[in-house]
Amino acid sequence: MRILITGGAGFVGSHLGDRFLSEGHRVVAMDNLITGNINNISHHAGNTNFEFIHHDVSNYIYVPGEIDAVLHFASPASPIDYLKYPIQTLKVGAMGTHNALGLALAKKAKFVLASTSEIYGDPLVHPQVETYAGNVDPIGPRGVYDEAKRYAEALVMAYHRTHGLDTRIVRIFNTYGPRMRLDDGRVVPNFIGQALRGEPLTVYGDGKQTRCFQYVTDLVEGIYRLLNTDFHEPVNIGTTQELTMVEFADAVNEVSGNTAGIIYKEDLRIKGDPQTRRPDNTRAKQVLGWEPVVPLSDGLKFTIEYFRKVL
Ligand code: NAD
Ligand code: UDP
Repeated sequence: MRILITGGAGFVGSHLGDRFLSEGHRVVAMDNLITGNINNISHHAGNTNFEFIHHDVSNYIYVPGEIDAVLHFASPASPIDYLKYPIQTLKVGAMGTHNALGLALAKKAKFVLASTSEIYGDPLVHPQVETYAGNVDPIGPRGVYDEAKRYAEALVMAYHRTHGLDTRIVRIFNTYGPRMRLDDGRVVPNFIGQALRGEPLTVYGDGKQTRCFQYVTDLVEGIYRLLNTDFHEPVNIGTTQELTMVEFADAVNEVSGNTAGIIYKEDLRIKGDPQTRRPDNTRAKQVLGWEPVVPLSDGLKFTIEYFRKVL
């Protein structure tokens, strides 16, 4: 297959590209580098199965030749990124998704939308099952991201129902691994950067809020299986190992050998921090036969090794 990955120079997009290339496919990475990094794909220089197109997908997308699948992963993803780029975030979720769908329709390609657990907002149902419609404040600070992704899901289903486009929606829960930006403000690079500098880890609020962290190769495996399955409803992909931020900080300190402990801080970034988040991943198990396999201690070890090199 020849696969277009929008956001292909980002954290997740670049790992997806690696996977599809390793399976013998051709990859076109399209990215405007707003939050991505060309270094994430520089190891493919000279590989004739790999192309990079510098383009903002919120503008009309032109790609010559056949395309068999469009994986739409372009979007700022970290809270500080989408606060810095609120309009670009709304545009790439709306116009970017529309352009990517239009291209898939013209090329008769399969389509995968990178959606997010954030579509559940600050959830009132726990764990979050795909049939739960969420609790999102459209005009809250996170609304630019959450509502862009909710609109994107609506548009994907409209293309599927109206045009019969062969679509998929993956609702991604917190994912970590090498190639995250050290300064992207998300908890994993923050904590690891602090641990490697021997500083206390900054736990926001009372640290009782929870997240589930999956290693990036587990996510990529889920997306790979989803593309090869005939299933059009959204699928949660995430681990069910739910940790408070205090527990997660302790885990990072333990694996990195940092003895500086933790400090509590007010989250000055953004209001409306979801207090709980855990996927019900029954659907992923049933439809894809997928379960995460990388233990947190291993995933953290690999990620810490990466950040040690870039620090
Ligand atoms: P990232 O910021 O590393 O990657 C996003 C990429 O998209 C970047 O390379 C950026 O430059 C590119 N991009 C943004 N707007 C663009 C535009 N208009 N045109 C072209 N390229 C554009 O973030 P990530 O963590 O790799 O996230 C990738 C996708 O996965 C996003 O759609 C995100 O919403 C989704 N997601 C990620 C997570 C996670 O935990 N990493 C969780 C849920 C959903
Ligand atoms: N967080 C934290 N310390 C940090 C950065 C984040 O305690 O230095 C917390 C944040 O308040 C949130 C969780 O970590 O509850 C996950 O935040 P992140 O930005 O990684 O992603 P989110 O899941 O909120 O999109």
